[in-house]
Amino acid sequence: MDTREMPGSRNTQVTIQCQGCGAGIVLDVEETMSARCPWCREFLSIEQQMPHGAVTDAVLPFLLTREEAQAKIAEFVHARRRFAVSAFKREFTPENVMGVYLPYLVMDAKTHCRFSGPAGDIIAEHRSENTNYFDVDFYDISREFDMTVSGLTIEASSKKRAVDVQRNTLNIINAILPFDVENCVPYDGRYLKGFCAERRDTNIDELKWLAGAQLHDIAQSQANGMSEKYAVDAIENVKEVYINEKHRAAVEKSRNRPGLLRYNIRWDEQSVDLAGAQWKSAYLPVWLYSYFNRKGGKHMLHYIAVNGRTGETMGSVPFDAGKRNLLTLLVLVAFAFLWWLLVFGRLYFNDGLTGADIEASLDAGFKLTVPFLIGGVVLWLICRFAIGGRYRNERERHFYETETPIEVSNVQKTDLRSSSVAACRVPYVRGVNSFEIHDPRVPRILSEKTAAFLSAMMPDEASEILRRI
Ligand SMILES: [Zn+2]
Repeated sequence: MDTREMPGSRNTQVTIQCQGCGAGIVLDVEETMSARCPWCREFLSIEQQMPHGAVTDAVLPFLLTREEAQAKIAEFVHARRRFAVSAFKREFTPENVMGVYLPYLVMDAKTHCRFSGPAGDIIAEHRSENTNYFDVDFYDISREFDMTVSGLTIEASSKKRAVDVQRNTLNIINAILPFDVENCVPYDGRYLKGFCAERRDTNIDELKWLAGAQLHDIAQSQANGMSEKYAVDAIENVKEVYINEKHRAAVEKSRNRPGLLRYNIRWDEQSVDLAGAQWKSAYLPVWLYSYFNRKGGKHMLHYIAVNGRTGETMGSVPFDAGKRNLLTLLVLVAFAFLWWLLVFGRLYFNDGLTGADIEASLDAGFKLTVPFLIGGVVLWLICRFAIGGRYRNERERHFYETETPIEVSNVQKTDLRSSSVAACRVPYVRGVNSFEIHDPRVPRILSEKTAAFLSAMMPDEASEILRRI
């Protein structure tokens, strides 16, 4: 590791290891005599110095002021106060926000990409005995192009790169990317005044595989975008047909996230050849609010992060499931009471009823039972799953595959029709993979089980023709 002194440091910059979370924090001791860790708010002791991390080439200065960042954070929390953990709300102090320069490696790359494989164009849908059938034209397609990527940005602190939504909330910090890295200036230690920085502990060689995976995803997203004909939800009459609930959820999710599950294509050949790459290391500015939540034996560090350039804000607010469960219970009790009132209520509040009236009334009432049960289940599902998603924000990440600036040239496309299949049950190419993401830190859009199920259901093009129309 390069331990050269950072330019402009004038020997007043030290790197301290936080005793709370182990992070390496770079501080200007001339400026700050006592400081706290921006990650876990532990007090940092000058006694715990460690070697400087690798040198940094560039820095992107803060644009957003502390006051602006505080306002963003307060607004974010305000919108999530209802089901937040009480202790979090009590202790919420937006003034504690800290300005941190986080280390990143930034890559510019020139690539040559080639994607090819079978694709399905769904041309019609038929309904028979409550089942949908599809007429599909299958094609062999290829997409070949040159792609230049600028400013692909990857965390250069191994601890912050370890995004894992089951174990930590680091996806929050990933989600406020991208930065306008083209506006970086040469590194100068004076930018650190009033802020702190995290030590860079990663070199380019350790990140090549991850950059490769992300380049692959960017290229695949482009190849998908060049294949609109095979976009599944671009076809009006197939829009509301889903194989199962998970599939439906994935398609809906993908509506606003181009490049995930919209294309009926199996890319058999996927090659992204690197023709040239340039790397630089940069400190990028983040306003960070952290909160350490303890619950029983479990604990989790929650962050609210604000991009110090664009103001983009994302966070994880500790969620109180007890409050949600109580609300769910109250809603269901009120709902059950309404049912009781409709079925039996009339008998209580009306003395002049004859036996036949009572029977007719009960009959009408019991007819309501099934719709009410269904309604109850729907209400429960809404309460259980709709509340809370905006607190932890597990699905948030940097959608690098569509958010990274690129230029594409020399596009060559071919589409050769291979077969037409009438009335297939599942209108997909077997083994459709156009939505797969190669960065292993991204939660799978479909679970392994659903993917296997989808794959098994897909017809072997011409072999499974069901003549049902
Ligand atoms: Zn710490």
